Amino acid sequence: MSNKEMKHPKNIPGKFYCTDPDDDNGEGCIACNVCYTGAPEFFAEDEDGNAYIIKQPSTPEEEELCMEQLEACPVASIGDDG
Ligand code: SF4
Repeated sequence: MSNKEMKHPKNIPGKFYCTDPDDDNGEGCIACNVCYTGAPEFFAEDEDGNAYIIKQPSTPEEEELCMEQLEACPVASIGDDG
């Protein structure tokens, strides 16, 4: 599970978030580029390639797209309980 205590500082506040790569529980972003390639309207990369949320979903379709990224993230670095 993504660690709420280790959110990336650039996340737009809200339900979805990405965790910081320094998460010592081993669930931090590894800059694999899946989420910001799959849903660039909602996920962006910082200068190190790590992901953060730039827009929260506001429709069921948008939420589903974000949820798809959450499920595709190889290290469980995306949370939906923020
Ligand atoms: S899918 Fe996960 S590991 Fe990959 S860039 Fe996004 S948050 Fe990081």
